[in-house]
Amino acid sequence: MAVFVTHSVFREPGWSRLHPLSGNRQAAVIDICEMLQWFDEDHVRLCDFASRETLTAFHDADYVDAVRDASASGQVSADVRTRYHIGTMENPVFERVFERAAASVGGAIEAARCALDHGCAYHPAGGTHHGKRAEASGFCYFNDPVFAVQTLIDSGATPVLYVDIDAHHGDGVEIAFADHPDVVLISTHESGRWPHTGAGDGASPANAHNFPLPRGVNDSEFMFLIDGPISEIAAQTKPKSVVIVAGADCLDGDPLSAMALSNIGFWDAIDRIRSFAPTQVILGGGGYNPWTTVRTWAGLWGRLAGFDLPHSLPPAAQEKLEAMSCDLIDTEDMRPEWTTTLCDQPNRGPIRDEVKELARARVVA
Ligand SMILES: [Zn+2]
Repeated sequence: MAVFVTHSVFREPGWSRLHPLSGNRQAAVIDICEMLQWFDEDHVRLCDFASRETLTAFHDADYVDAVRDASASGQVSADVRTRYHIGTMENPVFERVFERAAASVGGAIEAARCALDHGCAYHPAGGTHHGKRAEASGFCYFNDPVFAVQTLIDSGATPVLYVDIDAHHGDGVEIAFADHPDVVLISTHESGRWPHTGAGDGASPANAHNFPLPRGVNDSEFMFLIDGPISEIAAQTKPKSVVIVAGADCLDGDPLSAMALSNIGFWDAIDRIRSFAPTQVILGGGGYNPWTTVRTWAGLWGRLAGFDLPHSLPPAAQEKLEAMSCDLIDTEDMRPEWTTTLCDQPNRGPIRDEVKELARARVVA
């Protein structure tokens, strides 16, 4: 059984209009799931805010307090901004930012517990994989995937395999579990993108396998890597649990990256990664095209919960998507199917030599 984990705070507006995460993706995912009648009490768990004590198991106490105080007062001093990178354009302070970040951690812990009980749990508001021990980074204040992985370690569901398919390298999680004997880390991400780590140049720890991908990766290329070297790493690891960061910025049409997966390719990849271990935690991540992100994360829940996915969305869902806006995408670049359909056309294509070479280089003997 699959469980959907959420919190009422994710229904609130959150980020300011000028931020790439403005426009509430989480509320829209839930609304569309409800419109498709995919939500019922048996499959939805409401999580708690992670407590200060819980948060300080990974994050420094003075950093946790700084995020809490900034959230409460709505402002930060220059010293706090410099030291913790909060109150910046990238990691702004907005109303209830602390609560939102604490709920993302509470949700990741709850998702790990639900996955241990039921097999699979999905927390689309999670996936803040850039968060550091004492520093906000890349729109991430705390690092909820770290808490999902740690909960699985503490429960003995080891080895834990972490697979991050967000378009950006999962640097915060890699740092947190560098050389950890019970964790194997895999990240696929677009080469040359921020945060410019995970380049496969030997700078990462030995338990981290990074796949920096060329621009425009299609469904066939992505599945080639999942079925090839990534499956081989999983076979060698023999994980008891898997944590997936399912950032939707690897989809075609994302304004902050240039990968080209269809949502069909994305869902198929996640199905395959789920098969690596009996206990599966699926978190969200980035995703800056609100239309492709919301359709994909809603559809992912439909797939996890075993529903048939309709091709066209019901009128209310279409209206919901039409009402969303995004300053990063020009009107002429909007595609009609982003508001009318749930499923993309698959984006299959040739497997380029550079992708084959990446696979060859990563095959573990
Ligand atoms: Zn990302």
